[in-house]
Amino acid sequence: MTHTMYSAYLKQKHGERIHRISIDAGFTCPNRDGSISKLGCIYCNNESFSYHTKRKVLDLDKQIDIGIKYATKRFKAKKFVLYFQAYTNTYASPEVLKSTYDIIKKFNNIVGISIATRPDCVDNKILDLIQTYTKNYDVWIEYGVQSIHNETLKFINRGHTYETFLNAFYETKKRNIKVCGHVILGLPNETREMMMQTAKELSNIKIDSVKIHPLYIVKNTILEKMYLEKKYMPLNIDEYKNILKEFLKYLSEDIVIDRLNSFCPKDLLVAPLWVGEDEKFFIESL
Ligand code: SF4
Repeated sequence: MTHTMYSAYLKQKHGERIHRISIDAGFTCPNRDGSISKLGCIYCNNESFSYHTKRKVLDLDKQIDIGIKYATKRFKAKKFVLYFQAYTNTYASPEVLKSTYDIIKKFNNIVGISIATRPDCVDNKILDLIQTYTKNYDVWIEYGVQSIHNETLKFINRGHTYETFLNAFYETKKRNIKVCGHVILGLPNETREMMMQTAKELSNIKIDSVKIHPLYIVKNTILEKMYLEKKYMPLNIDEYKNILKEFLKYLSEDIVIDRLNSFCPKDLLVAPLWVGEDEKFFIESL
């Protein structure tokens, strides 16, 4: 594979291994709380990615302490990026967000911040706030893109269009904040050609990084119902590897790859059961 993985990017930029610590800052999501919808994206059961904190949100200092201790012991990491991962991490007022993000200032071994959010949950004030951290930190926003095709976004109930992402993207880039786009391969009704168009478009706009994973089915979701009714079949591992290989061919080589697979706790995963396979396995076969 010719692209740089995010871990290698961090090592090159900071001169040493940097570990990313995921935290749950207790935010919710407008696509779940009724502001946009109560249904959420058809594949969303947020427990699948706030599993370790079980949504009994721990004090942020404590979460960071636990993450740092674990990564120090397991990976001998000395510096860290703080990753606001669960739900929509810009879904609050700029004042609340500032007091949340400012936690990084308490830890002198945190060198970066990565904020996962929806593109319809940022505005100028929020982006101006996030820009203030770029003076001293490596700052990224990870937007859920999923697909550039509005018919797909509508079908999966994202609650926003691709144009919403584009606006957020250009406003973010104006402020010198790096952008990672989250893309899902194997979405319902998406042809191979449609997925390749997503790769080409993200290259055209010069996104900084892409996080890719196959669509997988989690318990208690609309997608699970579709799967049980045989209205949706996930990609098998060979199909995914094959599509991924071509997708990467269309993605400019200077785009950093954040991830090529995903993790889902076994007790929540319905299918395909190979999700969570060691990422090295994918990298080696590309
Ligand atoms: S945007 Fe994220 S948290 Fe919100 S419904 Fe979709 S997957 Fe769930």
